Amino acid sequence: MLLIENLHAEIDGKPILKGLTLAVAAGEIHAIMGPNGAGKSTLAYVLGGRPGYEVTAGSVTYKGIDLLELEPHERAAAGLFLGFQYPVEIPGVSNVQFLREALNAQRKARGEEPLSGGEFLKLAKEKAKLLQLDMEMLKRNVNVGFSGGEKKRAEMVQMGILDPEFAVLDETDSGLDIDALRVVGEGINSIMRDPAKGVLLITHYQRLLDVVRPDKVSILADGRIVRTGDADLAKRLEAEGYDGIMAEAAA
Ligand code: ADP
Ligand code: MG
Repeated sequence: MLLIENLHAEIDGKPILKGLTLAVAAGEIHAIMGPNGAGKSTLAYVLGGRPGYEVTAGSVTYKGIDLLELEPHERAAAGLFLGFQYPVEIPGVSNVQFLREALNAQRKARGEEPLSGGEFLKLAKEKAKLLQLDMEMLKRNVNVGFSGGEKKRAEMVQMGILDPEFAVLDETDSGLDIDALRVVGEGINSIMRDPAKGVLLITHYQRLLDVVRPDKVSILADGRIVRTGDADLAKRLEAEGYDGIMAEAAA
């Protein structure tokens, strides 16, 4: 579903991704782990099409199309969703307004009818309930004054409403307490566990993987995937740290 081959990318002339190759099949939740500064967020931004990230070599194919040729909004319309490590605040725009605009823009790009205010609210309530986020939070301005955990839950509500085919989630677990982590993990399962969907789940912690149960786990270090395994690889990492496994990968 998503095929990344020999991807090289740089920021301000500094190479960050250095020949990254990774495939995610439909129906697969693929976790990416790796030390700080390895390039995990850079990978997420490159997939989302954020300005300032220059791809210097390699390719990204999404459902058979060249993803890198698409503008960010075209990527979203093609079913790609990006969850950020640091969600932005948008003063003056409520979550409800923002989400309805975003959803209807995507529906329009796909040739579908827009949802009415009533239909949208029904959908938003259903997804807020799933993520145990108070509807009042969704009436407030996007992320303004939200705690870390509330931002992450609001982001998962956003994902539930947009119902993407492929989600790239960058440290969705950061800032969550144990209960919120379970709610978010179960939200990911309920929204994205589907034979036609795929997920790249960037995380530092085994705790989220205990809930989400990834099909595959890859380790990203120094701009490359150095190892891919099953969920046991994450357990080994938790027990042994990166050093041993990376030394093994280098040998
Ligand atoms: P990770 O998410 O794996 O912790 P990042 O992708 O955020 O890593 O960062 C990878 C490397 O790129 C780091 O060395 C970081 O300092 C560098 N980097 C990230 N953003 C910028 C930027 N805007 N300008 C220069 N260097 C950056
Ligand atoms: Mg990061």
